Amino acid sequence: MSTSSTTSATDGPATTTAAQTTVYGYPRQGPHRELKRAIEGYWAGRVSAADLRTTAEGLRRATWRQLADAGVTELPTGDFSLYDHMLDATVAVGAIPPRHRAAVQADPLAGYFAMARGTQDLAPLEMTKWFDTNYHYLVPELGPETVFAANSAKAVGELREALALGHRARPVLVGPLTYLLLAKPAPDVAADFQPITLLDRLLPVYAELLADLRAAGAEWVQLDEPALVQDRTPAELNAAARLYRELGALTDRPKLLVATYFDRAGEALKVLAKAPIDGVGLDFTGPGAANLFDLAAVGGLPGKRLIAGVVEGRNVWINDLEKSLTTLATLLGLAGRVDVAPSCSLLHVPLDAGAERDLDPQVARWLAFARQKTTEITALARGLREGTHAITAELAANRADLASRAASALTHDPAVRARTAATTADDARRAQPYPDRARAQRARLALPLLPTTTIGSFPQTTDLRTARADLRAGRIDEDTYQETMRAEVAEVIAYQEKAGIDVLVHGEPERNDMVQYFAEQLTGYLATQQGWVQSYGTRYVRPPVLAGDISRPHPMAVRWFRYAQDLTDRPVKGMLTGPVTMLAWSFVRDDQPLADTARQVALALRDEVQDLEAAGAAVIQVDEPALRETLPLRAADRPGYLDWATEAFRLSTSGVRADTQIHTHMCYAEFGAIMTAIDELDADVISLEAARSHMQVAHELAEAGYPREVGPGVYDIHSPRVPSTEEAADLLRAGLAAIPAERLWVNPDCGLKTRGWPETRASLDHLVAAAHTVRAEL
Ligand code: GLN
Ligand code: ZN
Repeated sequence: MSTSSTTSATDGPATTTAAQTTVYGYPRQGPHRELKRAIEGYWAGRVSAADLRTTAEGLRRATWRQLADAGVTELPTGDFSLYDHMLDATVAVGAIPPRHRAAVQADPLAGYFAMARGTQDLAPLEMTKWFDTNYHYLVPELGPETVFAANSAKAVGELREALALGHRARPVLVGPLTYLLLAKPAPDVAADFQPITLLDRLLPVYAELLADLRAAGAEWVQLDEPALVQDRTPAELNAAARLYRELGALTDRPKLLVATYFDRAGEALKVLAKAPIDGVGLDFTGPGAANLFDLAAVGGLPGKRLIAGVVEGRNVWINDLEKSLTTLATLLGLAGRVDVAPSCSLLHVPLDAGAERDLDPQVARWLAFARQKTTEITALARGLREGTHAITAELAANRADLASRAASALTHDPAVRARTAATTADDARRAQPYPDRARAQRARLALPLLPTTTIGSFPQTTDLRTARADLRAGRIDEDTYQETMRAEVAEVIAYQEKAGIDVLVHGEPERNDMVQYFAEQLTGYLATQQGWVQSYGTRYVRPPVLAGDISRPHPMAVRWFRYAQDLTDRPVKGMLTGPVTMLAWSFVRDDQPLADTARQVALALRDEVQDLEAAGAAVIQVDEPALRETLPLRAADRPGYLDWATEAFRLSTSGVRADTQIHTHMCYAEFGAIMTAIDELDADVISLEAARSHMQVAHELAEAGYPREVGPGVYDIHSPRVPSTEEAADLLRAGLAAIPAERLWVNPDCGLKTRGWPETRASLDHLVAAAHTVRAEL
């Protein structure tokens, strides 16, 4: 981040433009994750539906209060969700899948959660990453038979709540284009069905939603169209143009704001500029900075309201206020009215940096979570309205904080810098070609065909979490805690032996989280106490903050590996989190290229991989579930990213012998765009999410000529549902249609940490039985 002071064009007389402030969305969970507790209580039958609704309403009220107190002038409504905003959109447009209809009719709330999580008899909707964030949404299932019907109950209800409290409120809905482009063909529909062909059918439903919101008192309605920041075909851009022409032409409609975020709007900017809508939201941070130039190139947005996303909404660093003011001043000439906002919903950052008690106070001043960002936007708006003299104190403090960060020893470690500089391309290549390695590994491991394994974690039971909480609170000592973990590892090993699993794991009970656990042991990372962000539904994670240069003061996972391996004759996997994921699931520094940060992390992990090998690990798994999600949204930016990302993975894994088997793991099903990159990881075995997509990934890999071993998941761990042996065997057979038996592994989709023991045991028993069944057919 540049700290050089820029001359702000807003110096001098105050401008007459009355800049307002707004946000697109806010963290949903509440200061103490009250929402998670209420929802999980409802699932467990401890909390009534009425009490859950009361908790939710109280949280919305508190959020609006907080925003209003911070001086935010227009508040979002409808961004709140009991599970996911895409699922809310599915309900709002009446696209409930036929299999869930009876459940939704019988009890809308229970039915809503049935769509989200499944039941013993009903498969849930598929879950996937929301663009390149760490948030997961539920994928709409559509087909030629889909009949939409407007259901504005939630949107209208939440708007009325805010209005009744005296707030100026703007309902937020997922836009029709994004809704369709993010949907997939329903399971019984041809795979080549394109949901976007339903646009004409969806349009009147949105018209009805808009009319209902207008009638309930909405002056503005926001339609979120982040799909417009991805590369779109001319046909899709035409569809967008037609859509907004028609919505704009509606009589008696609220004013329409179309918000884009996460990247530049590119070609879509022209469409939005021409459309008869009233406002446009653009992201001016990161790659979105290109919007500034592009906006000038299309002649600006005369007569329209521009929501200028100048404060990064997805990272935790303080804004460079002077730089933002300069951007805003330029924008003043490019739109009818300019309002100040974060670049995207604040859903993706924690609530309040002020709640952090354990951070170095100097470092804490470098951080801005949701609450601090609202203060930044209101300061910026004041600066824009009244001139920089109106925010002199804020600017001075901001300049000092940026300078302290740039000069800190934390951000500049000479030893780390020397080592990364000395790294060569050879360091990132294994010494032997894959066929030689495969032969050596086969000889060393002597596994059966279709070997069974799991992805790493076993259920993180209440006992384990309690032990960790007790240790933190000083209720138990370190020895007692370690003893609890050792007992758990012993149980996990014993269970796997009994179940007949071939390559074992220690179960990761000691890990609070796959990134945080390592981050806590690496120098350069900071941990937060309260920095929770929603991953999906009621799952919240606390991403560490990668703030400085990275080094490894001591081995991290070796002791647990050794303990587990000593308990069994079967191979135990050494388990690590890969460099790309270590970045992707952290808040990462923005003061140097990501590639440089990735290389530092990779070198620290390389030492760990070699220590595991020396401790006797024949199999080492380096998880990279985040490789795909970090992929830049625009194709033009992808080759550069994949280059450094795959190199970082290889740098961490290439220091081992030929007969040490490197596994990697990824949990998503679509990765057409990274097929080549997966090959370039040069991992000996890759396990992937595949159960919900019927092994599609195995076929894609086969078509791409992928030469190494593959474990497409046959057990969907995102739901408590237990797959039958036959179901798992069928998936395996589908896998065998793509990958020969010599190269096919049998494993779940992902780690089991979110599951309970009973369903885990039953599911893994079925998985092993399925492997036996199918082996017998070979
Ligand atoms: N080894 C990790 C686990 O099993 C992998 C988790 C993941 O891919 N998200 O928990
Ligand atoms: Zn996974």
